[in-house]
Amino acid sequence: MVIKQKKLFWQILLVHLAILLVTIAAVAWYSSRTFDSFYITEKGVDLENRANLIKARVVELLFNGTEAHLRELVVDSGRASGTRITIIDPDGLVLADTNEDPVRMDNHRRRPEIDTAFSGTPGQSQRFSNTLGQRMLYSAIPLYRTEAHGGDGSDQGAIIAVLRLSVPVTAIDAALTDIRVKIGFGVLLAIAGAFILTFLVSRNISRPLEEMTRGAELYARGDFSRRMLLNTKTTASREIASLATAMDQMADQLDDTINTIISQRNQLETVFSSMVEAVIAVDREERIISINEATAQLFEIERQGTQGKLIQEVIRNTALQEQIERILATGRPFEDEIILERSTNGGTYLHTNVVPLHGGGSETIGALIVLNDVTRLRQLENMRSEFVANVSHELRTPITSIRGYVETLLDGALDEREDAEKFLEIVLRQSEQLEEIIDDLLALSRIEREAKDSQIDFEQLPLRSILEEAVEVCRPRANERNITIRLDCPEDLHMDLNPTLLERAVVNLLHNGITYSEAGQEVAVTAAMVEVAGKKKVQISIKDSGIGIAEEHLPRLFERFYRSDRARSRKEGGTGLGLAIVKHIVQAHGGQVEVESTVGEGSTFHIILDS
Ligand code: ADP
Repeated sequence: MVIKQKKLFWQILLVHLAILLVTIAAVAWYSSRTFDSFYITEKGVDLENRANLIKARVVELLFNGTEAHLRELVVDSGRASGTRITIIDPDGLVLADTNEDPVRMDNHRRRPEIDTAFSGTPGQSQRFSNTLGQRMLYSAIPLYRTEAHGGDGSDQGAIIAVLRLSVPVTAIDAALTDIRVKIGFGVLLAIAGAFILTFLVSRNISRPLEEMTRGAELYARGDFSRRMLLNTKTTASREIASLATAMDQMADQLDDTINTIISQRNQLETVFSSMVEAVIAVDREERIISINEATAQLFEIERQGTQGKLIQEVIRNTALQEQIERILATGRPFEDEIILERSTNGGTYLHTNVVPLHGGGSETIGALIVLNDVTRLRQLENMRSEFVANVSHELRTPITSIRGYVETLLDGALDEREDAEKFLEIVLRQSEQLEEIIDDLLALSRIEREAKDSQIDFEQLPLRSILEEAVEVCRPRANERNITIRLDCPEDLHMDLNPTLLERAVVNLLHNGITYSEAGQEVAVTAAMVEVAGKKKVQISIKDSGIGIAEEHLPRLFERFYRSDRARSRKEGGTGLGLAIVKHIVQAHGGQVEVESTVGEGSTFHIILDS
């Protein structure tokens, strides 16, 4: 059932008006009735008094007068007082009447007022008179035999006749109608006054409440800008004014609380979104409460619209699924690792930190998974262990060799002087090789560390002097192998460089060029300004026409200990670290190193630096 709700204003107004109208109507009706009966009673008493005034004369005439005298009295007195006077004998016969000839009149014995009067008490009644054709008020009194005529002097004696006086009710009605009109007019005035008063009272009560209702509706919609601020002088009720003040205070507090919550939520959201770690929060039903941007990027999904969805619908990963089920089942935090298989770039290693989410109490309401991409860490770990294995291997080779020859010498080869010398020369060479590896390793780690800590000093120097130095360093070896070195570098080419490091890089490349060339060939060192992607750069190129490098080796050539021709490198006493050192030096200068090579035709290494 739908209850139709009225406005408070109308409720108050209508109820008040109804009560007032009923009350006014009741008062009006009651007072009009009271007036009616009062007026009639008064009129009756008046008639009775008038009857009493003439009763003595009537009795006198009844005994000593003629019928004509009696009629004369009745007609004269009646007309003089505007009253109809009737005298009725005990048989009901009319003896005299002001308005009518008694002969023509009915027997009046049974008229109620007359009947009452004959029973000894004054009688009154109101009814329509057939004689006069209008409503009349009758008042009748009994007439007793007086002492003078043989009575006992009391009203208890024999009733000789009844004297009745009557007036038309129309006159009374007119008077009463006049009174009623006045009462009615008063009632109308009272109703109008009551209406205005009720209207004002209703408005006074309902208006602040309506205002508060509107305010409360705004609060419900989250708008706390409005304040009740009711005028306490015009607000009739103290309770309403207090309610308005309380609502204002409540709005202030709610506004503050909500603002605090919003700013805290925004802070959390900012932290959550800007986290590098992927964060997933799920509820007990494994539905997503929230995921951050990092998660969306990691799993290559759209973040929007994921809230409320089952985690397995959004992220299809069995290992992650198992971990969520585990934490929801046990509630005990744990760390683990999952691998995300990718079509490109191989797998992604994710370290997971899984904790339960607690509600207000201690109950678990869900789970929080923080995922860290540790792929780079894993790669570094792999690189490190690979490096350690390589270093060990590189060091073990000369050491094994040295140890073998020393043992041979100890086993008696020392006695054979020629062999001993040969063996000791090998031991010396291997020790030098060992020293070179260690020197290169130390150099590499120092360059790496200094570059990382920005400890490398740069100065504006002419490039040519550096290249000349490098050529001079390598010249003996070139001469030894009958290789010519050509240098081509403009005199005025100046740039920011670290002379020691850059010379070492050029020496390494020149050294390789000499090493991997045939006797009689030339290694050219050239430097020139070039334009790369619209920027001016300095390019130093070391070109040989030697054995060249197969294409498959090129991508890994600058890795530590990587050799394209292992046997030749060893024979030439290479450490396998030369190009790695070059790469690090060039990177420390903010540049890059590139290689072009064709097997059998030679190789060209380019160092490209900012000018
Ligand atoms: P190494 O000390 O063995 O020369 P590098 O790091 O300098 O070590 O060079 C790595 C490998 O690259 C070498 O072992 C060699 O196989 C190859 N290589 C370097 N430079 C040249 C070149 N100019 N011509 C042919 N092969 C080269």
